[in-house]
Amino acid sequence: MTAHRIHLRSDLTRVEILALLGTAGALDRRQIATRLRLGDATVHEHTRRLLASGYLRTLAPQAGVVGRPRIPLQVVPEAAATVGVRVATDHLVTVVAGLDGRMISSDVSPFDCHADPIPQLLAVINHRLADPVVGSRLKAVGVATPSSVDPATGFIRFCPRFGWTDLPLGERLRAELAIPVLVDNDLRASTTAELLYRTGLEHDDFLVLGIGDGVGLGAVLHRRVHRGPSGLSGEFGHTPVAATGPRCACGARGCLETFTSDHGILRAARRRGLAEAATTIEELRARWASREPGLADLLAEIGAILGRAVAGVVNLLGTPTITVIGENHVLWPGLEPGFSAAMRTSQVTAAHRVRVIVRPWSDAQHALGAASLALAAPETLA
Ligand SMILES: [Zn+2]
Repeated sequence: MTAHRIHLRSDLTRVEILALLGTAGALDRRQIATRLRLGDATVHEHTRRLLASGYLRTLAPQAGVVGRPRIPLQVVPEAAATVGVRVATDHLVTVVAGLDGRMISSDVSPFDCHADPIPQLLAVINHRLADPVVGSRLKAVGVATPSSVDPATGFIRFCPRFGWTDLPLGERLRAELAIPVLVDNDLRASTTAELLYRTGLEHDDFLVLGIGDGVGLGAVLHRRVHRGPSGLSGEFGHTPVAATGPRCACGARGCLETFTSDHGILRAARRRGLAEAATTIEELRARWASREPGLADLLAEIGAILGRAVAGVVNLLGTPTITVIGENHVLWPGLEPGFSAAMRTSQVTAAHRVRVIVRPWSDAQHALGAASLALAAPETLA
């Protein structure tokens, strides 16, 4: 088998340039180099290629500038598009994004994680490829899954929530599609989107904490999404935080996720008599939104468990900026007191002066992240 390997590290620069111009508007090469902390030669080479491909256009030289005229560059959003798919337990979110990272369309379809995922994914992807408006502009597909996956090959080693092991998802999709396919972990996909379009516009180093039906932590270090040698980073939810406790989907006991995910929060609520067996996380979120008494203590306790685990990472990496994403971001005001207290447990941890940014979340965010990863695949904009 010839390994189909994708090297994201070197190629994200080109997408960073497109994302910056899509977000900030037209900039000249010097401004791009300054904003992205890149060398002039690197910016020159990437913009030359992007101009030659028609993905950037030049505007009239800026008047009134002393010295050589500066030529603003503008992204051509409609010159290409990518598809991003978020794979959740019971549904798929499919988005089409332009070159500037903006969403052109988004929709949701049912998904059965216990059935073969390939035909289900091909159905939504082929539907976009057949679209008379954007189909011919689609250059690549990104798929975000809640799994341990090597993005270089799209090989899923382990997906406890879906019961998948050793699934060559990338290889099987590539065999059926004529455009590049990139498969990555969903939290890393969203971390990439944060780097390109949001937190990364102001910070070179930060963490992305995803809280929802799972718990994950992405790390951006020196403007690169950390992936680990085999691409298996980010499995923060399986950090062992207790010697005993409920069994996790991964097979172990005492994983962080079993205390802080949807299931963990509901289990703790039931134990305190704050929830019935049939209570859903949506109901609990709604009750927190109306500040039902009793929930504050419960959430603060869960926030403290989360905070102690994140404090270890902050102390290790020295990254004080944390962006919170995910369905349970609405519970953050309840989680925050315990989380912040955990960040003050020692002078060392407190010295980092952790700053938390909470993002409004929509189900399409992981899919949009997958679309931006697809844009970074080397053959996408070749
Ligand atoms: Zn686990």
